[in-house]
Amino acid sequence: MYKSVSKKKLGQYFLKDENIARKIVGNLSFKNYNTVVEIGPGFGILTKYILKNTLLTKLFLIEIDKKLVKYLYNIFPFFKERKKKIIINKNFLKWNPKNFNLKNFAVIGNFPYNISSEILFHILKYYNYIPECIGMFQKELVKKILSHKGDKMYGILPVLIKTFYDVKYLFTVKKNVFSPMPNVKSAVFSLKRKKTNIIFSTLRKELHFKCVKTAFNQRRKKLKNSLNTFSYILDFNKIPFLNKRAEELSVKDFIELTKEIEIRT
Ligand code: SAH
Repeated sequence: MYKSVSKKKLGQYFLKDENIARKIVGNLSFKNYNTVVEIGPGFGILTKYILKNTLLTKLFLIEIDKKLVKYLYNIFPFFKERKKKIIINKNFLKWNPKNFNLKNFAVIGNFPYNISSEILFHILKYYNYIPECIGMFQKELVKKILSHKGDKMYGILPVLIKTFYDVKYLFTVKKNVFSPMPNVKSAVFSLKRKKTNIIFSTLRKELHFKCVKTAFNQRRKKLKNSLNTFSYILDFNKIPFLNKRAEELSVKDFIELTKEIEIRT
């Protein structure tokens, strides 16, 4: 049944293995939150385990595919009351938690892999509302967000994610537990928001994004050249790291660099 309805352009690879589903959901800590947002619930294999947790008070399902939304209302009819359990037929990338008065929630999903990076950027946009994220991506992407300075995969996404979250690799998932079977292996990971960086002001956050993105857009250039859009910083020889390249800076170094630029702006 799964195979015949799968739409690859929506990244639809449905999980068939109940044990893996239970194990993924079991990683939700419910520490300091009791609302959960699931992205792309599909046929609800993760949903049913989320619903079992007695610490849950609100659950939002965001599913782009109308047919699947219809299916979900059928198997979970109580979502029709739209009280504390709500299905939203929408593209997650266009979803704004503020419109639902949501300020503190965990995100979970066996995510559509075709928009993996965009999902992470959308989570970063609202990181001050999202203390935790448990999810599955293709293994390579999870390895990328875990990468360090000097690694080939190191870049904008790992630096920005690790600025705000501690990332943990939880376990690998084989291809044959999905229908249809994807071409690549998957991995389950968790993001736990760092306490220290919650004080990032909106302005500093914007500056940090701009700084990291600009630096990596010309990753082989020294920062004093790649960051020359911040022309004013060139006058400040005291700023550390300007003689290095983006790929040589750790996450901590980037945070330091943003602070240095900020106090001179
Ligand atoms: N969680 C299910 C389905 C995973 S497949 C399972 O584990 O079996 C990915 C799911 O994300 C599909 O249901 C797909 O329709 C949905 N999806 C794809 N793009 C989306 C988007 N932009 N916003 C919300 N859901 C999306």
